[in-house]
Amino acid sequence: MDHLLVVNAGSSSIKFRIYAVLPGDRLDLDLKGAFDGIGAHPHLFADDDHGRRVEDDAFTAGQVPTVAAALDRLDDWLLERLGGERPVAVGHRVVHGGPDFANPVPVDDAVIAKLEALVPLAPLHQPNNLLPIRIIRDRLPGVPQVACFDTAFHRGHPDVADRFALPEALYREGVRRYGFHGLSYEFIAHRLAEIAPDLAKGRVVACHLGAGASACAMVDGRSVESTMGFTALDGLPMATRTGQLDPGVVLYLVQAKGLGAAAIERLLYRESGLLGLSGVSADMRDLEASREPGAVLAIDYFVHRIVREIGALAAAMQGLDGIVFTAGIGENSAALRARVMERLAWLGLVADPAANARRDTVVSAAGSRVQALVVPTDEEFMIARHTLATLRAMAPAG
Ligand code: AMP
Repeated sequence: MDHLLVVNAGSSSIKFRIYAVLPGDRLDLDLKGAFDGIGAHPHLFADDDHGRRVEDDAFTAGQVPTVAAALDRLDDWLLERLGGERPVAVGHRVVHGGPDFANPVPVDDAVIAKLEALVPLAPLHQPNNLLPIRIIRDRLPGVPQVACFDTAFHRGHPDVADRFALPEALYREGVRRYGFHGLSYEFIAHRLAEIAPDLAKGRVVACHLGAGASACAMVDGRSVESTMGFTALDGLPMATRTGQLDPGVVLYLVQAKGLGAAAIERLLYRESGLLGLSGVSADMRDLEASREPGAVLAIDYFVHRIVREIGALAAAMQGLDGIVFTAGIGENSAALRARVMERLAWLGLVADPAANARRDTVVSAAGSRVQALVVPTDEEFMIARHTLATLRAMAPAG
């Protein structure tokens, strides 16, 4: 039986999946797991296809200080799980595809060099995305690897959504509004077509609310606008990232406070967002459990910005038929969803509080002009589909 491996390496976690490739290229999930808490409380866990936990191992921060160290341990473990067989291909999430990659691409030296050049645009993610590609090339030479991009789903944006009001020369060298979380939004579009086909053809704002957060305007399943731009910093506030910020603040930090690039990067990517605002935690569960004024303010601000962006994206689409909540906060925080929905009443959204508390798929009331859905995202499934399709295009069957 052929197997596909999917790797989604982030800043402190590596998610992985093994899929069996069934006749007709159907994908069957065999193993799903993660190595998370890397550098803090490293934890490797995995569930088999029946949801049974088959691995649950805790490590000290010293044993697994970095993503590279985690990959080292994971490699042997995964190959063992595969019974010594090599996967037919490995698919990776790569956050930034720049202007050149509008589709998944088989990885070779030239592709790696281009992706390396994009590291400054996604310093938190891109290096960790590229690391497993290199390690697997060394350990499994000849196994095709496919890079799947978070930017690709947005590459069809109209010009007005793709540009900053900057001189043309900067646009040409790649300073564009790329948009991110594209694999998540592509999955949402795919899933909506199955569960709500009429809505899928309409105007939808999908809100990916996790440690990273953004919203995407989709018309007929295609992205037309996103709250994220050149980097994964723009738009909604995130766990530790600012979200939208007047660029004048950065000038002030440089000119009046003498901060250098590294200090500003740390501030914008790691010390701001919900963590910076609250002074309590970057984690929504902690904020919801806290009575500290900073925690209350951070949630208020998050809700305010989500509602503001949904309004802006609805205007960009000239109307709104539905919203979708997804990712850690969107899927799990009924309180957050309730507050967002309440503030969208002016757009014609009527919430169903009981359905929302139960986390039904549809959390708006029957007859609500704007529908609201909770759709768990599955970036890894999207990567697996792209990887298999790319593999087939490389070496057509038969
Ligand atoms: P993600 O990046 O998609 O894994 O999402 C991480 C975020 O989801 C963190 O802020 C978590 O606090 C949040 N989250 C996960 N479960 C819950 C929950 N039950 N209630 C509120 N927030 C949650």
